[in-house]
Amino acid sequence: MATDFPADKFKQYGTPFYYYDTDVLRKTVETASAEAGKHGFHLHYAVKANANPEILRIISSYGIGADCVSWNEIQRALDCGFSPGKIVFAGAGKSDYEIENALKAGILCINCESVQEIGVIDSIAGRLGIKADIALRINPYVDAHTHKHITTAIEDSKFGIPMNHINDAVAVLKESGNINMTGIHFHIGSQITRLQVFKSLCARINEISDQLARLGVALRIINVGGGLGIDYHNPETIPSFKEYFELFKELLKIYPGQEVHFEPGRSLVAQCGSLISRVLYIKNGDTSTFAVIDAGMNDLIRPALYQAYHKIENITSAGVRAFYNVVGPVCESADIFGKQVELPETARGDIIAIRSVGAYGESMASRYNLRDLAPSYFSDRL
Ligand SMILES: *Cc1c(COP(=O)(O)O)cnc(C)c1O
Repeated sequence: MATDFPADKFKQYGTPFYYYDTDVLRKTVETASAEAGKHGFHLHYAVKANANPEILRIISSYGIGADCVSWNEIQRALDCGFSPGKIVFAGAGKSDYEIENALKAGILCINCESVQEIGVIDSIAGRLGIKADIALRINPYVDAHTHKHITTAIEDSKFGIPMNHINDAVAVLKESGNINMTGIHFHIGSQITRLQVFKSLCARINEISDQLARLGVALRIINVGGGLGIDYHNPETIPSFKEYFELFKELLKIYPGQEVHFEPGRSLVAQCGSLISRVLYIKNGDTSTFAVIDAGMNDLIRPALYQAYHKIENITSAGVRAFYNVVGPVCESADIFGKQVELPETARGDIIAIRSVGAYGESMASRYNLRDLAPSYFSDRL
């Protein structure tokens, strides 16, 4: 039986709900900040991983920045204590009103994802009578070797300006009087566990900086994005930020006056969250036993969407171990959290914890089947 959950307290709560261990969150953000700080690196938390206001307030209290992908995320980040000068804004499809609001809010820079977007930002900035700080998000063609839905920098990816089109982008930049080019941005994918991928990224970034230098484009900011993976099999572990940042320090060519920025999302928040639910029914199938729980794919879509593994624990039973297909109540065959999961003997009413769901859990929840959105509770004030 897992001992680190207040199971008796959980029994008094309606389920399902997200449970966040704020000590784990704080320790993770502290570790990341300290390791980045050793090299003078800048961090922007990727808000889309978890936009819960309580989580955002804790993260912003460490003085790091935010990486947003919509105006609403920028607004939420500002409301939760992130300073505008540390907010970056990416996204392949920014609407005009999102660009305008971002410019008015005075964020650090807009990470521009197409040649046409440069022109659009230039004209909006011109209309507002301001200079727009932008960075170019470039697709460096580095395969993240992760799930295809979270690979963002292979050929024909919709993200960023393809490396082969850098010359076109620079030509447009030179004609854009209302643009201040601050640097370059990359984000090649998520849940990257092979450090070799980041080595390839560094090599590619060095080539691109040289190419831009030859074209007369000065770069103040090199933003390498996020993507550092976590260990879903061991929910107690904090990602190896030390190794990760040291790799960039060693392999990235950094010229005097240049800043290196990172956008960690998952690696900061995944391990602090669990999805807590109750077992509704145990039923015998033809070849398996099902544990039907009251959390569904609308609460946590990662297993259905990415075939993601999450550790599943029964925190109220210590019975003889057996195998269960742990499934939700949603009317979709994909609503499965795990097949042949080994659990202590499980009965109706037991409390189940699905681990490592702090990232892309609550933030991707929906009301499919008109189910209610799961509330969230925090370990420091249960
Ligand atoms: C999603 C995203 C991130 C964060 O990715 P993680 O894998 O969660 O670290 C960073 N930057 C951009 C532009 C993103 O879209």
